[in-house]
Amino acid sequence: MSPLKWLRVTVAVIFFVGIAYAFLRGIPAWNVPNMTGGGEGMEDSFVLAQWQFVPSVLGTLNWVGVSVAALAILLALTLLFGRVYCSFLCPLGILQDIVFRIRRWIRPKVFLKFSRPVPWVRYIILAVLVACCVTGFAGLTLNWLDPYSIFGRIMYVLAWPAAVWGNNLLAADSASADLVRMDYYPVAFPALLASAGMLGLVVVMSAWRGRLYCNTVCPVGALLGLLSRVSLFRLGFDPASCKKCGKCIKSCKAQCLNLKEYWIDASRCVACYDCVRACDEGGIRYRWFTRARRLIPAKKERKEASSRPSAVA
Ligand code: SF4
Ligand code: SF4
Ligand code: SF4
Repeated sequence: MSPLKWLRVTVAVIFFVGIAYAFLRGIPAWNVPNMTGGGEGMEDSFVLAQWQFVPSVLGTLNWVGVSVAALAILLALTLLFGRVYCSFLCPLGILQDIVFRIRRWIRPKVFLKFSRPVPWVRYIILAVLVACCVTGFAGLTLNWLDPYSIFGRIMYVLAWPAAVWGNNLLAADSASADLVRMDYYPVAFPALLASAGMLGLVVVMSAWRGRLYCNTVCPVGALLGLLSRVSLFRLGFDPASCKKCGKCIKSCKAQCLNLKEYWIDASRCVACYDCVRACDEGGIRYRWFTRARRLIPAKKERKEASSRPSAVA
């Protein structure tokens, strides 16, 4: 595994497990050491939650110092390396990767391929969110569009009762005094339905087309995608090394690798580094993109690329 991929997987596991555990706090059967820092209750998730994009924006609007710093770092990371937030830190994105990986295990011969961008959907959703925030309806829209809120609702409304059910099963067979039964808290049926619907949407979209939700629905992804278009370092092809085997395209869950034109759509690339790991030739790596570098060699490279045979239809 490439060092970039190692780094990404390690950080993603820490954030996903830490945030998920914070939502499952207080259940005796899952009483593992607290990985998130902080004290009891919702504060448990604070250390990792402050690195979430929308909470950091909301904190910044209220001049919370730590949120200002977190937001500045998240924006700087995006402007330097693209949408690393979407692969390293966002639990909803990592959940989609888990679903997509399971789908790959079940149907290993079904691959995704490059698809042309359809950016207007995500930009309309982003514009609606901004308009709602400006006109005072931020709460309603953020509840349904902020990826951290969606993940939190899935954990709180669906995973927590399931975890309590598991705990009670274990408690029924255990002689340990530490393992006690817990009561369920009441969840309103519409909330249950809405959370299940949201989870179903995310699962179906990611099983079908990888990061489709991230690149069509999520307004945070749309905003970070806009910034990534001008990021300083971007993943790019090295035409001199590339053998056009097509392995990288098969591994790309964002369908943003265009081998024919040696072009990677930075606005949709979620910096997962699966393509870097898939390539044995070193044909994809971070490159420093200046305007001149992006435009002039790309023409030459495209000419060379079109004359080379490709394993990809
Ligand atoms: S696009 Fe949205 S849901 Fe997807 S990883 Fe990025 S922030 Fe999370
Ligand atoms: S995996 Fe590497 S060699 Fe194969 S097409 Fe992609 S960049 Fe080229
Ligand atoms: S091009 Fe695709 S596989 Fe490569 S890092 Fe971006 S999203 Fe991942």
